[in-house]
Amino acid sequence: MKRYKEIASTFVDKQHGLNNDSVELGMQVALDDTMFYQGELGAIYSVNQTEFKVWAPTAQSVELVLYDGYYGKKLNTMMMTRLADNATVYSMILQGDQHGTTYKYRLTFPNGEVKTSVDPYSRAVTVNGRRSVVVDLQRLNPTSWSNNRMVPFDDKSKAIIYEMHVRDFSVSETSGIVNKGKFLGVIETGTLNPQGSVTGLDYLTKLGVTHVQLLPIFDYATVDETPEKPYQYNWGYDPLNYNVPEGSYSTNPYDPFNRITELKEMIQGLHDAGIRVIMDVVYNHVYEVENHSLERIVPGYYFRRNPDGTLSNGTGVGNDTASEQLMMRKYMIDSIVYWATEYHIDGFRFDLMGIHDIETMQTIRESLDKIDPSIILYGEGWDLNTPLEFHRKAIQGNAKKIPQIGFFNDAMRNNVKGSDFGIGSKGFVSGEWYVEGKVANSFLGEIESKRYDNPLQVVQYVACHDNQTLYDKIKETAPLADIETLVKYHELATSIILLSQGMPFIHAGQEFLRTKNGLHNSYNQPDDINQIDWLRQDEFEHTVTLVRDLITLRQSEPLLRQSSYDMISKSAKIYKADYQILEIELKNDTESLFIILNGQENNIDVQLPKGDYIIKLFDGKVYADEEISTGITETIQVPAHTAMVLKQYHYSSTSLY
Ligand code: CA
Repeated sequence: MKRYKEIASTFVDKQHGLNNDSVELGMQVALDDTMFYQGELGAIYSVNQTEFKVWAPTAQSVELVLYDGYYGKKLNTMMMTRLADNATVYSMILQGDQHGTTYKYRLTFPNGEVKTSVDPYSRAVTVNGRRSVVVDLQRLNPTSWSNNRMVPFDDKSKAIIYEMHVRDFSVSETSGIVNKGKFLGVIETGTLNPQGSVTGLDYLTKLGVTHVQLLPIFDYATVDETPEKPYQYNWGYDPLNYNVPEGSYSTNPYDPFNRITELKEMIQGLHDAGIRVIMDVVYNHVYEVENHSLERIVPGYYFRRNPDGTLSNGTGVGNDTASEQLMMRKYMIDSIVYWATEYHIDGFRFDLMGIHDIETMQTIRESLDKIDPSIILYGEGWDLNTPLEFHRKAIQGNAKKIPQIGFFNDAMRNNVKGSDFGIGSKGFVSGEWYVEGKVANSFLGEIESKRYDNPLQVVQYVACHDNQTLYDKIKETAPLADIETLVKYHELATSIILLSQGMPFIHAGQEFLRTKNGLHNSYNQPDDINQIDWLRQDEFEHTVTLVRDLITLRQSEPLLRQSSYDMISKSAKIYKADYQILEIELKNDTESLFIILNGQENNIDVQLPKGDYIIKLFDGKVYADEEISTGITETIQVPAHTAMVLKQYHYSSTSLY
């Protein structure tokens, strides 16, 4: 994650005054032990009354401020009272049906400071997240809405994750989609590009991915939602209201309810197409600390600090939240559970998960297990410079402590295509030497690393929204290669991901060589850089077909999807991992898969145990359902820069060895 560093550096400076105030209040540790509140917070709606509850242990008084409609003047201010059984929570009950009531909190602190804020537990807000709105969620469900979650995802080893941005997916003229850039654009069907090829949801369904991972869909700060303003593009890693959908993806951001209904329509549409939804959640930092509801309501509590009182900055964007603080932990859990239950979200990808502590992550896992244990959790487990003890961080090095949570595998990414941080550095597919052993280890789910509890913790990828696209990276590292060669490098990299042990992850458009013109960080670049160009699927139809068929092959071969290291170590044999070649056999009682990855620029002849093999993948083409035999042989030629898969059945009566 690296998004808005320029912005961040300016607000780091602004924070010094605030820090001093917070240190004087001296509350950060003391609060947890004595003032934890377990109950529900926010505007708790029922048809006869709404109860407003806000955790504000350091405030001297809190008032509920009501407005005349979403955008009208202040109407009324009422003093809230402390809960009888927990004085840290201020409460107020309004009688009658309050659906649509617009409110904020006004807090007075002992030092005389007065702050107004939206509710951190807001479930609906006005445009740009400026005011909170009471909502009766039942009333907003789209007519298509199923009251139940999807059936559990029966086998996590079958997950194929596809990472996409709501706007990028449809905003191009080539998409043929009407609701460009909107939640509703994700689920339009019958859409075609100018050459008549299917786009959008129909395309995704054909591709065979099981889960889409959406870049932030919660309310973020850096895009002005008002449609009158020129559009400002952003990925959305700048959280504002964690429990509210982003307004710029709705067709009417002024209506606080429209975005809720339309996001649910999108989720339902994906579910109806058999595709599950993973939400990219960014609890590790907020856009601006001083203006965020968490800081305004309990100054100095929710954000981690260095020993000198300054805000810590492991995220690189100016602030780190403090998941180890019990009410921050509760906030994260409440938020995740809300998205899973109310919006039927099927998985969560934690941005900079290494900022969080493992106890929080494990508690999130357990909370979701009560809803559906097949909800997928994974994140960026990088070890960042944040003041939390190493053994508490949710990082790769502590993966075994949270065995049902996955981690992005940067070792695979770097060794297959070259490091994202070394300009021009090559990887296995582009001719790098001496990485064969590392690639073999990653290919078998990091089996030698002994870092993970099980291979399903390993998210296998070569490209994501960060850094260059796979195509741009490969092109940069092989400037003299012709397009046919670049396609082969690209296809070999993607084939390695889809044949590897672990959880494969594809960056949207990777299957048609998506380009961002070489840019490394497109977080705020215009649509013409970030949008999916749907014409490329025709230009690179061969690669699209290969990816689709590799997905089919993977799903039909359990040997490619093993769920324990014990199984892999019993089944896998590495015949060769040098000279830019990998030869690996995966074997069980009834069959073997021989996988050959040729990173050389030459065709190679590979020696095999004498036998009759069925070709499953050869020269960029998958033969998933056909049974094409090699005849009895002990050598096979593998073309340059390609992957090959051969299958052999073990018949008890006719051993071919
Ligand atoms: Ca927003």
